[in-house]
Amino acid sequence: MGEKLIKLAVNGGIDFGAKLNGKQLLMLARYMGENQELEVTTFQQLYVDVPESRLEEAKADFASVGLSCYPVGNFVKSLRTCNFCKGELEEGMPVAKEINRRIAGRAVPFTLKPAYTGCPVGCGEPLVNDIGVIKQHGERFDLYVGGKAKGLDARTGVLFAGGLEEDALYGMIDRLIDLYAAEGKKREQFAKFVGRYGLDELKEQVMA
Ligand code: SF4
Repeated sequence: MGEKLIKLAVNGGIDFGAKLNGKQLLMLARYMGENQELEVTTFQQLYVDVPESRLEEAKADFASVGLSCYPVGNFVKSLRTCNFCKGELEEGMPVAKEINRRIAGRAVPFTLKPAYTGCPVGCGEPLVNDIGVIKQHGERFDLYVGGKAKGLDARTGVLFAGGLEEDALYGMIDRLIDLYAAEGKKREQFAKFVGRYGLDELKEQVMA
């Protein structure tokens, strides 16, 4: 029996597109055997298996080259984003980083996928993710909930609140996740939770 392997989700953090540089790839390779594989997920993350005894060392090494590490399983995923093609500030990259800092890795009943996009073109596909944020023109944001990309019941999310300022957006996302973490059933997907709870009731609780 070989040593137990721990799966880590890694990516290059929030930037102009989901990219990795050579230094980051070489660092990942240092933790992989010749026949070991790296899994590319649909969510701008790579899954890499690391020996349990080297887990903390790996996290420190990955951080030293700018890789972000996240847990795998029933947690909030790192924020999927668009490529911020019109510029960092114009498209709100600092806001996306702050959302990610606040929520990625939080324990929830079932994997939750949040997405952010810098304008209504929607390259980050916010309407088919659990929580979606679209930056409007100016410093305002629309928040969508309950999108679902997979399954025969796939659907787009619905507008939860429109024209939010930055702080209101953060607070609302935090409270949505708090509520889901506290009142979602085990392995209940966020879109199902929204349906069961009811949009109006959810708004009442979150906006109280
Ligand atoms: S969503 Fe808008 S800002 Fe982001 S990459 Fe697409 S067109 Fe550019």
